[in-house]
Amino acid sequence: MKIEEAREVRTTCPYCGVGCGVLAKVAANGEIAVRGDPDHPANFGRLCSKGSALAETIDLDGRLLYPEIHGRRTDWDEALDLVASTFSRTIAEHGPDAVAFYVSGQLLTEDYYVANKLMKGFVGSANIDTNSRLCMASSVAGHRRAFGSDTVPGSYEDLELGDLIVLVGSNLAWCHPVLYQRIAAAREKRPDMKVVLIDPRRTMTSDIADMHLAIEPDGDVALFTGLLAYLGQHNALDRTYITAHTTGFGQALFAASSLDLAGIAAATGLGEDELARFYSLFAATAKTVTVYSQGVNQSSSGTDKVNAIINCHLATGRIGKPGAGPFSVTGQPNAMGGREVGGLANMLAAHMEIENPEHRDRVQRFWNAPTVAEKPGLKAVEMFQAVADGRIKALWIMATNPVDSMPDADAVEAAIKACPFVVVSDVLAKTDTVRHAHVRLPAAAWGEKDGTVTNSERRILRQRAFLATPGEARADWWIIAEVANRMGFGEAFSHASPADIFAEHAALSAFENDGARDFDIGAYGGIDAEGYDALVPFQWPAPSPGTPLWPAGHLPRKGGDRLSPRPSPISNTARGEPAPKLLISPLAGEMAGRPEGGAQAESEGVQARRASPSTRFFANGNFYTPDGKARFIPIRPVPQTRTNEKFPLVLNTGRVRDHWHTMTRTGKSPRLSQHLAEPFAEIHPADAQHFGIGDADIVRVSTAHGEVLLRALVTARQRPGSVFVPMHWTDQFSARARVDALVAPITDAISGQPASKNVAARVERL
Ligand code: SF4
Repeated sequence: MKIEEAREVRTTCPYCGVGCGVLAKVAANGEIAVRGDPDHPANFGRLCSKGSALAETIDLDGRLLYPEIHGRRTDWDEALDLVASTFSRTIAEHGPDAVAFYVSGQLLTEDYYVANKLMKGFVGSANIDTNSRLCMASSVAGHRRAFGSDTVPGSYEDLELGDLIVLVGSNLAWCHPVLYQRIAAAREKRPDMKVVLIDPRRTMTSDIADMHLAIEPDGDVALFTGLLAYLGQHNALDRTYITAHTTGFGQALFAASSLDLAGIAAATGLGEDELARFYSLFAATAKTVTVYSQGVNQSSSGTDKVNAIINCHLATGRIGKPGAGPFSVTGQPNAMGGREVGGLANMLAAHMEIENPEHRDRVQRFWNAPTVAEKPGLKAVEMFQAVADGRIKALWIMATNPVDSMPDADAVEAAIKACPFVVVSDVLAKTDTVRHAHVRLPAAAWGEKDGTVTNSERRILRQRAFLATPGEARADWWIIAEVANRMGFGEAFSHASPADIFAEHAALSAFENDGARDFDIGAYGGIDAEGYDALVPFQWPAPSPGTPLWPAGHLPRKGGDRLSPRPSPISNTARGEPAPKLLISPLAGEMAGRPEGGAQAESEGVQARRASPSTRFFANGNFYTPDGKARFIPIRPVPQTRTNEKFPLVLNTGRVRDHWHTMTRTGKSPRLSQHLAEPFAEIHPADAQHFGIGDADIVRVSTAHGEVLLRALVTARQRPGSVFVPMHWTDQFSARARVDALVAPITDAISGQPASKNVAARVERL
C-alpha cells in the first residue's frame, strides 16, 4: 500500500502549548507521514520545524521496552508489586508526606488525573508537582490573585484581531512558531497593526516588531507599574469598567506611582523616550493583547510581573473583548491540562483549592476517597530539596528528566542518587534521570497513546494513537492505576480506558459546581468510547446552555450571559472512520466529508468561523472572586539584581528554534540539529572584548552552582552585561553543557517558579 492510501489519524503535536493539529498516517511499509491539519482551530494546517519533523523522531532506538528492577528485565507484576509495596511501606512507616510524584506537562490529562487522584485522595499527601512548575506557575498564581481562578481570558483569534500586540519575555518566533505565523499573517493583511517586543535579547521575533524594548532582566515589573501610572496620569483609564468590575484600583495606582519616569528608566534600562513611546502607544490602542511567556514567568518576581500586566488591562477594560486581553502562552503541550486536574502541589482537581475545606470535602466525596490532602505539597524545587535531606524516601518521576532540567541540576542528581527508592516511568531507557532509577517502567510514547491535552487558549484536544505500542510499554494512566490497585485502592482505579477517566474528570468539574468555579466541562461527564474517539477540539467552560451538548437540568453558571463557546470547525476522522453522532459539535457531520487541503486551502466555512467571535471570559465582569469583581494587585518594583564582582554577568537560559526540552525526541532528527548544531554562549561584543573572548572561542560559563563549556557567539543581539545559553543540550549530546546545573534554586515566593533567566555568572575564555 502506498502512503497516500493509508488512513490519516487526527492528533495533536506533542511539543509546545500552541497545540497544533496533526494528521498522521502510517504506510504498510511502516513509513510515517505527518502534516498539519488544515481544519484545526489552532494551526489551520501550519506546522513549525519541530512539528514537521515528528515522523523523523519516531523509532525504537533507545526505547525502554520492558520493566526493569535495578537494571534487570522483569515482568510488570514484579515491578508493579515492588513499587506498590515500597510506597505502602514507606507511607506506613514515615507518613504520606514521605513519598512524592514528580510529573510532567508531557503527560496526557488522563494520566495526570489518575496520578493526582492517587496522591491527593488515597495516599493523602499533596506531594505531587510537575515540571510545569518551571513553565507557568507564576501565571497560575497571577490569574488566581486577579480573577479568583486560573483562567486564561483570551483566544488565539485575539492575536489576529488586536491592533497592538505586546510580546513580553517571549521569543514567539522560535518558541510558539505557529502563533507567530498567525500574527505575522494578520499583520500582512492589516499593516496598521503594531507589534512591540519586550525582551533583553533581540530575537527572531523582532522581525515583526515595530518597537523592541531591550529591557534590563526582570525590569518588567517596573515597566508595567510605570504603565499603570502613566495611564492614570494621561486620562487613559476606563473608569466605568474599573468601577463596575474591579476592586483595589486606588491602592494599585498608589503603589504604581512609587517611581517617576526617570526611576522607571533606571529600573528597566530603557530610555525615557522609549518608555514614553511605548506608553503612549498602549494608551492610545484599545485593542491591545499582551502576550507573555517564560521571560515573565521564570522569575523571582514572576507573579508580580503577571499581575502588573493584568492591572494595565483591567485599568483600561481591555479584557474579555475581541482583540484585547492579557494572554499567557504556555511552554508545554499540556501545562493547562495538568492545571485542570490538580497536577500542581498547591491545587486540587478541577481548579478547586486545597486550602478550601469545602473543596476538599467535595473532592473526597466525589472520589469516595479515604482522605484528601489537607495542605499544599512541596513545589518542585522544595520537593528535590526534601529528597536531598531525606524527608522524601520514595519518589516516582513520570515523563520528565529533572537531572537535566531542574535548577541546581547537580544537586538534584545527587538527591535522586541518594534517595532510597526511585521509580521512573519513561519512554527512554537511558536519560540522565532514568539511569538512577531503581525501578524503570516503560511508558507508551506519542503516537502510541490516547488521551487529551489542553492548549494555551483553554482548548481541549485529542491525542490519538496511530502506532502499535512496542515491547511491553503501557500508558501512564494504566501504570499508575495498577500501582493504586496493588496499594489497596482498586475500586477507585478501575478505569478501563482514557475515555472512562476523561468522563470522570469531566463529571468532577461539574460536581456541585454552581458556576462559582471556572473549569467546567461537565457536559462531557457521560462521554462514552465512541464519543471520546470523536471528540472535537473545544474550549472550556463548555458548553453553554442552549447548545445541544448542555445537559438538561444543569444550573446556569454565574455570569451565564458570557459569549458561548464556539463549536470547533474540525471533525474527527480518526482512523478514517466517519464521525459518530454522540457528543460532537453539530458541525462535525458537515465537516466530515470535506476534502483535505493545506494551510492555503481553507474553505470559506473555515474562514468564516475563524472570523467569528470565540469564547471569552469576563465580558460582563463576572470574575470568580466572591464579589464577582477582578482584583487589582498593588505592586511595587523590587530590584532583582544578583550580579557581583565575582559573577558580573546575568545568565539567561531559553530555547532554540528546532529543539525541545532535553532533546530526547528532537535530538533524533539530523535535520533539526542542522539549525544549531551545538550549544553556545551568546555574548555582546563589548563584553566579549572586555573578557578577551573572540567569536567561536570555547568559553567556560560558571555560576556559584556549576559550570559548562560552550562556544562563544559574539553578537549585538545580546544585551550588554548578560549571556544567553540554550537549555536543551545535556551531557549526552555535548560534553559539560547542562546549563541547568548553573541555575540557582531561587524561586518566586508566591508561585514557587524558579528564576531561570536571571543568574549571576561569569564567562572566561579557555
Ligand atoms: Fe508543535 Fe508548537 Fe510547532 Fe505547533 S507551534 S507544530 S504545537 S511545536
